[in-house]
This record gives sequence, C-alpha cells and structure tokens, in this order.
Amino acid sequence: MLAVKEYETIAALREALSESSTSGGVVGLVPTMGALHEGHASNVAHAAAECDVVLVTIFVNPLQFAEGEDFEDYPRDLDTDRKVVEAAGGTHLFAPPPAEMYPARVRTEVRVPSLSQTLEGASRPEHFSGVATVVTKLFAIVGACRAYFGEKDFQQLAIVRRLAADLSLPVDVIGCPTVREVDGLAMSSRNVYLRPEERGAALVLYRALQSGVASILGGERDAGVVRTLMADIVRAEPLAELDYAEAADPETLEPLGRLDAGQSVRLLGAARVGRPRLLDNLGVVVPA
Ligand code: AMP
Repeated sequence: MLAVKEYETIAALREALSESSTSGGVVGLVPTMGALHEGHASNVAHAAAECDVVLVTIFVNPLQFAEGEDFEDYPRDLDTDRKVVEAAGGTHLFAPPPAEMYPARVRTEVRVPSLSQTLEGASRPEHFSGVATVVTKLFAIVGACRAYFGEKDFQQLAIVRRLAADLSLPVDVIGCPTVREVDGLAMSSRNVYLRPEERGAALVLYRALQSGVASILGGERDAGVVRTLMADIVRAEPLAELDYAEAADPETLEPLGRLDAGQSVRLLGAARVGRPRLLDNLGVVVPA
C-alpha cells in the first residue's frame, strides 16, 4: 500500500494536485471533519473506485459551530484517521490548521437561503452558511473534481449540490449511501457521546423513518399522516427528544402534502438522545 501524501498548506496541496491533473488524473474530493468511521471510509472507497487522486480533507470547521456547540470537544484523532484514509484507498490527505483556512476574520460568506432555514437550519441558523462557505473554499482550492458527500447529511448534500450548480463550479457532487451499524443506527462521529443506556434509545429515529417508509409503501398518500406517525414513534421513547420528523421534496426540501404515484419523497428526522443530536433520513418512491 502506498503511503498517503499529507498536506497542511493550500499552496502545497495545489502544487501536488496540479501535477496530477496535468497528467490527466481525475480528482476525487472527500471532505470530512475527521474522527473517521466506516461511513467516511465508504465514501473514500466510492471515490477510489472512480478517481485517480483521492483527496480526503480533515478540517473541523469553526464556522459551522454555534456558540455553545461542541467545537472544542469535537473528537479529533489524526493518527487513526490517517490509517482509515489509507485503508479505504485515499491517496492524499489535507489537514490544515484553522489559521491556514481562515488567516483573517472571514468576511465572505456563502449562503443558500432557500435550503438552509428549514429542518437543521431552524435550530442552527448559521450552520449551513458555515458549511457552504468551507465547501466553496475547498472547491476553489481543489478545482475541477468529483466531490463525495454522504446522504446521511441529506440537507447538507442538497445545499452543496445547489451551490455547485448555482455558482457553476466545475465539481460533480456525488451522494453516497448512509452506512449503518448492524442494528441500523446511522454511523456518526458524535455517536461516541451516547451513553450505554442511550444507545438502544438512539435507534428510535431509524425505526420511525422505516415506519414512515412502510406506511407510504402500504398506500398512505397524506404526508401529514406520515409525519405524525414518525413523530409519535420518537415521542414514545422517553430518552429521545424529537426535533423534527418531515416528509419533504428531495430537491427543494419543502414539506409535502398529498403524495402522488411515482413521486420521490425524503423522510428526514432529528432528535436529541442524551448529548448528541441524531440525524437520519430515508428515501422512498410513492408506489402506483
Ligand atoms: P462529517 O465528518 O461528519 O462532517 O462528515 C463528512 C462526510 O461524511 C459528509 O459528507 C457526511 O455526510 C459523510 N458521512 C457522515 N456519516 C456518514 C455515514 N454514516 N454514512 C455515509 N456517509 C457519512
């Protein structure tokens, strides 16, 4: 196995990438905040299957954390991450210090207002501006590439697709399926915050989403009924505190009303279980 080449500065990374792109290589970009798990590894493996250069970025982006969120405590373990990147087929690792990404107070912000205020954005109003700004910056650093994001963070994926299209960035945004623990819990770096007694309760979100899918497949055509069904399942779990349970259009993220045969629906949920806020989502096509 070839050692992963590691960069901490934008200039050094750009130089390395320009060497590969002059020789015609396709660059795959996998942005992460580190604390890598099998979900991240799967996205790296997707990139490795399709690209010549597989660049994983590890940057805990201060712009997307609000005051009082877990920026300081966010799990960081570069030594383990390096091994995960290498084993999954990564070739390049970019792990800049914050001062390299944001040398001065950041004055430029990228916003995708229509997709950023609902769902996650309702309780984290500045979060997606932080995400959109750092992702745009990474796209500007890397240039033409294929960029791999997880469906696990479905709203983030929708926002990244939108900004790449709206700003005509030379980036193909690719969504990768959510990787789950054997019992179905969506993998997340923040799952380490779950206490043993909360681990079982954390599954409630996935169960609620599965019930939502089953009800649509079983003939339910009123998205409001599906929302209530999912919300009631989460509320019945004493250790979970529901934030939202939504049935939305996968592109606009707008809440749906009557469902039509053939329509794609995204069911999205968020709940706090102990310390972490858990997110999950599933897609379903309304049957004829
Ligand atoms: P994060 O490090 O949490 O910011 O996530 C970095 C990337 O990995 C994002 O594109 C996430 O959507 C993706 N990701 C996180 N968890 C999973 C998962 N369980 N399965 C697939 N992709 C994931």
